[in-house]
Amino acid sequence: MSKYVESVMAQVRAKDANEPEFLQAVDEVFATLDPVLKAHPEYQKNAILERMVEPERVVMFRVPWVDDKGIVRVNRGYRIQMNSAIGPYKGGLRFDPSVTLSVLKFLAFEQVFKNSLTTLPMGGGKGGSDFNPKQSPHTPGKRCSDAEVMRFCQSFMNELYRHISADTDVPAGDMNVGGREIGYLFGQYKRLANEWTGVLTGKGLSFGGSLIRPEATGYGDVYFAQNMLEKRGETLEGKQCVISGSGNVATYAAEKLLQLGATVLTLSDRSGTIYAKDGITEKMLKDVMALKTVKRGELAEFAKKTKAVKFFAGVNSWQVVDKIDAAFPCARQNELDGDDAGYLLKHGCRLVGEGANMPSTPEAIAKFLEAGIMYSPGKASNAGGVATSGLEMSQNSERVAWKAEEVENKLKAIMKAIHDNAWEAAAKYGHKGNYVVGANIAGFTKVADAMVAQGVC
Ligand code: NDP
Repeated sequence: MSKYVESVMAQVRAKDANEPEFLQAVDEVFATLDPVLKAHPEYQKNAILERMVEPERVVMFRVPWVDDKGIVRVNRGYRIQMNSAIGPYKGGLRFDPSVTLSVLKFLAFEQVFKNSLTTLPMGGGKGGSDFNPKQSPHTPGKRCSDAEVMRFCQSFMNELYRHISADTDVPAGDMNVGGREIGYLFGQYKRLANEWTGVLTGKGLSFGGSLIRPEATGYGDVYFAQNMLEKRGETLEGKQCVISGSGNVATYAAEKLLQLGATVLTLSDRSGTIYAKDGITEKMLKDVMALKTVKRGELAEFAKKTKAVKFFAGVNSWQVVDKIDAAFPCARQNELDGDDAGYLLKHGCRLVGEGANMPSTPEAIAKFLEAGIMYSPGKASNAGGVATSGLEMSQNSERVAWKAEEVENKLKAIMKAIHDNAWEAAAKYGHKGNYVVGANIAGFTKVADAMVAQGVC
């Protein structure tokens, strides 16, 4: 790292010492920027790095709500408005007990570069709450009821609505925030603001949602992998793939892999991993999707009813298969460590396509890069979700609804553009084939140029 980068890093470490995930994300990006900072001294002169690590605004608020037993519960809500240099803040909402300021700042920071990579005019933001819809506050082992989730979402929006609008900040879903939650949040926003605008994305199809938005992150992740393979004259057909997670990103990544002729061997969740020796079939995948989105159950239950799968309780997908061509981490941050990376490499893995945000630890990334395999960081390969959110915003503004094929073709083209931009930026700065360097530099440059042009603000 150059002296400039080191000095900014030292400031961030001192100021945000209690934010490990945020520090990890900043470190990962800054470690790759030396060549572009050297080529553009104006970035240092304009204190671009110092400004990028400071959110433009952080809103933190109380979310009081009443559970089904009439007991008042209190959660903490957040919205991080990280950077609006190239467009309105854009990024998901996460409801999970693991949500902290550090986690959301890391996600918002990543989002800035990801959104820039999409080629669409979107700034970066992220938000959420430590609310856990998967655990009822009054009945152990039970989920929150729909009515409880609705009351929570309404209370959350009672504060959030002041800080967002279709031209200011457009939230979407993330972990545990899917169609149901976006519907409740949108309904409450509409009442409070007395306007119908595309203020949230990931909406239902009957009220302004875009076709392909639910599929977009998982599909986009696989399209990115396809682009990496094409560079080497290969395809996904016949590849043995392991996937972690069984939520939105994981299941649609699995669906696209099956469509492209790959074999999907695993899916996972908090209860453990399912492994199908002969591959997860379309029927099994549909059942998992229904279990997760309708019944909101666990893979442990699925495994009990499905003879063709083996279940590994409390274990992630990385170390249960002997022969692996490609891995798709699609669950959560830091879910794949150095040990897992070693196992994957030893068992033949030549491609890692991150669907989740920052799922690989720094040790794992170092191993992938050293081995020279095709490794795509989440900010590039999972950008299809937010890109399609951008397409939903365009449709809402124009008051039109595009056909599924039209949206998917645009998604495919965007994933190719992201891939090619990252590839070219890496090559230009002397790191051919390194998508970490390429994605960071390509995402950074556009935002940095806009910040320089807009003066000190
Ligand atoms: P979902 O909530 O739909 O799915 C998350 C999956 O991860 C579930 O299978 C969940 O298991 C599993 N998981 C979560 N925490 C743990 C844990 N501690 N241990 C084991 N498994 C865990 O979320 P998404 O699919 O939407 O998001 C997944 C990742 O992709 C996140 O990193 C998110 O930020 C990122 N992402 C999502 C986008 C989107 O469009 N949805 C866009 C870009 C990135 P369980 O069901 O048991 O909770």
